Amino acid sequence: MSGHVLVINAGSSSLKYSLVDAKTGEAAATGLVERIGEEQSHHVHHGPSGSYDDEQAVADHEAALEAAVQAFETHGPALGDVDIVAVGHRVVHGGDRFAAPALVDDELIAAVTELVPLAPLHNPANLEGIEVARRLLPDLPHVAVFDTAFHQTLPPYAYTYAVPTAWQEEYGIRRYGFHGTSHSFVSGQAAALLGRSVEDVNLIVLHLGNGCSATAVRGGRSVDTSMGLTPLEGLVMGTRSGDLDPAIHGLLARVAGRSAEETDRALNSESGLKGLTGVNDFREVSRRRAAGDERAQLAFDVYCYRLKKYIGAYYAVLGTVDAIVFTAGVGQHSAEVRAAAVSGLEGLGIHLDPARNADPTDNIASTDDSPVAVLVIPTNEEWEIARQALDVVGG
Ligand code: ADP
Repeated sequence: MSGHVLVINAGSSSLKYSLVDAKTGEAAATGLVERIGEEQSHHVHHGPSGSYDDEQAVADHEAALEAAVQAFETHGPALGDVDIVAVGHRVVHGGDRFAAPALVDDELIAAVTELVPLAPLHNPANLEGIEVARRLLPDLPHVAVFDTAFHQTLPPYAYTYAVPTAWQEEYGIRRYGFHGTSHSFVSGQAAALLGRSVEDVNLIVLHLGNGCSATAVRGGRSVDTSMGLTPLEGLVMGTRSGDLDPAIHGLLARVAGRSAEETDRALNSESGLKGLTGVNDFREVSRRRAAGDERAQLAFDVYCYRLKKYIGAYYAVLGTVDAIVFTAGVGQHSAEVRAAAVSGLEGLGIHLDPARNADPTDNIASTDDSPVAVLVIPTNEEWEIARQALDVVGG
């Protein structure tokens, strides 16, 4: 096997990995170690000779990667039998220093460490993954692929908050955007589906997973995106509020004595669908809504209304739109969200075909004569990370 990239996505208590053929996107093996550091961790590995599932304790990220390497040996493919050209690491925040993927060296590690205040939940875990992988796989080139990089093309008027200028200079307070690998991948797929070059199309890409973001893509370049300084801004998400009045922080401090940390945590982990219904899983919200639950109905309406507002805003940003692209768990699987998000937008040239929307197996949910196509495209962030890593190492 040749031209493979070992893609690593290290979270605070998890390590997800995938051995991907960078040319075809085919995964020779995938795996996940969860609940790292807890008494009972969970390791699942899917390889060519079957799946492996284990519940032994995994103390830290180093032990997790060792377990992954071992799983490759026992359940395949043995890493020694594969021509691995690079290890590709997902890094959430690259600030304004990284507009492209980059080879990991000590300087990069220092730069990503400096960005920790901007992404305290993500960058430390990503760094941990990089350091462990460099120790265990020292002979391979390691490449950092940033969630923020795709959005470094935003113009200043789109990324600047109207706050004292010194805040940006001193603290890096500006909009960065996230989910860049997904938006970039899906944009390329959408252009191919339209039979056009990505440079020639304008797209509104809606990544609706647990985290949700919308991006306006002009000619393959991100010109606006809904997430901001952190992934909290923008659309309603599984547990995040998305847009709100920043005065809420101050009000909760004054009337409820809540600290900044408490409110931050509530807005990131206890809000969104979870805040409105008690559950963050969209399928459960759908089930409850279908059963007549009023809170689930309201959550659905808030979610889709926000989505529609962003479609309208990005239509205005782009001027002309070739396609609206839905991706990730909800975007791909919820016909009702797609229908609600574009309902009443026929005047903008967006015509959904109800039958196609219910079963978009050919990736198209709009009518043949809809001036704006509505597309449903699976994302593949691992493949995009593998491709970008291969580019960096000159494959
Ligand atoms: P992540 O952001 O963690 O990668 P996913 O892209 O897998 O997440 O999206 C997870 C979300 O997708 C969950 O809210 C889940 O309920 C939702 N989802 C998955 N399948 C369906 C489905 N068939 N219908 C509606 N929502 C779905």
